[in-house]
Amino acid sequence: MSKKLLLKDAHIEGIRYFETYRKQGGYTAAEKALKMTPEEILEEVKVSGLRGRGGAGFPTGMKWSFLAKPEGVPRHLVVNADESEPGTFKDRYLMEFLPHLLIEGMLISSYTLGSNVSYIYIRGEYSWIPDILEEAIEEAKAAGFLGKNILGTGFDCEIYVQRGGGAYICGEETALLESLEGKRGNPRLKPPFPAVKGLWERPTVVNNVESIAAIVPIIDITGAEYAKIGVGRSTGTKLISACGNINKPGVYEIDMTITVEEFIYSDEYCGGIPNGKKLKACIPGGSSVPIVPANLLLKTVNGEPRYMNYESLADGGFATGTMMGSGGFIVLDEDQCVVEHTMTLARFYHHESCGQCTPCREGTGWMHKILKKIEKGEGKMEDIDLLWDIQRKIEGNTICPLGDAAAWPVAAAIRHFRDEFEWHVKNPELCLTQNYGLANY
Ligand code: NAD
Ligand code: SF4
Repeated sequence: MSKKLLLKDAHIEGIRYFETYRKQGGYTAAEKALKMTPEEILEEVKVSGLRGRGGAGFPTGMKWSFLAKPEGVPRHLVVNADESEPGTFKDRYLMEFLPHLLIEGMLISSYTLGSNVSYIYIRGEYSWIPDILEEAIEEAKAAGFLGKNILGTGFDCEIYVQRGGGAYICGEETALLESLEGKRGNPRLKPPFPAVKGLWERPTVVNNVESIAAIVPIIDITGAEYAKIGVGRSTGTKLISACGNINKPGVYEIDMTITVEEFIYSDEYCGGIPNGKKLKACIPGGSSVPIVPANLLLKTVNGEPRYMNYESLADGGFATGTMMGSGGFIVLDEDQCVVEHTMTLARFYHHESCGQCTPCREGTGWMHKILKKIEKGEGKMEDIDLLWDIQRKIEGNTICPLGDAAAWPVAAAIRHFRDEFEWHVKNPELCLTQNYGLANY
């Protein structure tokens, strides 16, 4: 049984409202934190080993310690709720069912960072959630946990919710800041990182929803206790949104010591693959991370079991491993066609490219066109090599990680499933009537 820190009260009726949340011990972590110094809280977060839950896994305590503190310049906390990575819907769950957990985490974090005005930037498609968050903010304010002189400490904090317009790129932290400033969401060059020059050029910490929610249990049980959960540098618990060919899609909280096999097949989590189908592949961390075939997904290159944590999923590097990413776990059964799947992703990245860099703007479109050709049975063998060449020219040559995110799925698909691409070229007449999975497994 996995330990629950974030979702332990998610099943309680009315937990979305302040009164019920408070009855369950809500805001006691905030009360405790406000009696500590910001330095003490920062130390707890560092000791906890918490890594950013948005996808990059950057240590949260380290990011907070990078925050510049020039005299007289306001600082900001911005929560990145622009959860748009295909396959990822864990932050939506948190905000919809446990909005006060996020608000409490924001209060503690804002106090630590010295942010008197903090923001939640939420993706446009989550159209019903801003009302839930705004209601929770009003409730917290009425109870004295937000606003002026919170709990008599002299600390003031306001939280505002900003709706995005539905662009994937606005989840990239600097594009998000541009959008929050009222401009087109074009990513900025880094460095400078937002911790030095962020919102309106002020020092800003941008953190994912789940990262900020995790601050509550860290303060509650202490950073040292939090660090004991999990394994190695994968401390604490992680939310995984599971989807695709599984019996029980949904959001699960895991403690990162379970194996991938257990996660897919146990009844506590995904409950196996429908109709007894075989596992073909999986994308374990949202669409931007490399696809992994079943044999490498269930064990590492050394034959060890593969675990649901940052290190084990990345074991073997990009050649064989993948990444924990945002925890968007997408399962493909034996009937699925990898070429079709990769084409769908390429279309997505092409559509979402902001267009600032040539390799991304042009390359994503070319990759989509070539993949479409191959999928329709109109491709040539040289197209597979061309595709490989294009993705290599995108990777590492763009302003923001969207370029890499578009290149990696193509690279991994060709690396692990080249036979499938070749089948499409060799069997043009079959491409339109049956997909590769159905025809070959
Ligand atoms: P990144 O590695 O560039 O940065 C991670 C964080 O650390 C950023 O906040 C950055 O500002 C900070 N940082 C790194 N070095 C720093 C330094 N020297 N000084 C100060 N701060 C520093 O990654 P990223 O661009 O933030 O995120 C990429 C990831 O986002 C991808 O791996 C992908 O998994 C994920 N992603 C998630 C979603 C989603 O919906 N959750 C969508 C798209 C992508
Ligand atoms: Fe825009 Fe793509 Fe360049 Fe990112 S990589 S800045 S999305 S063109």
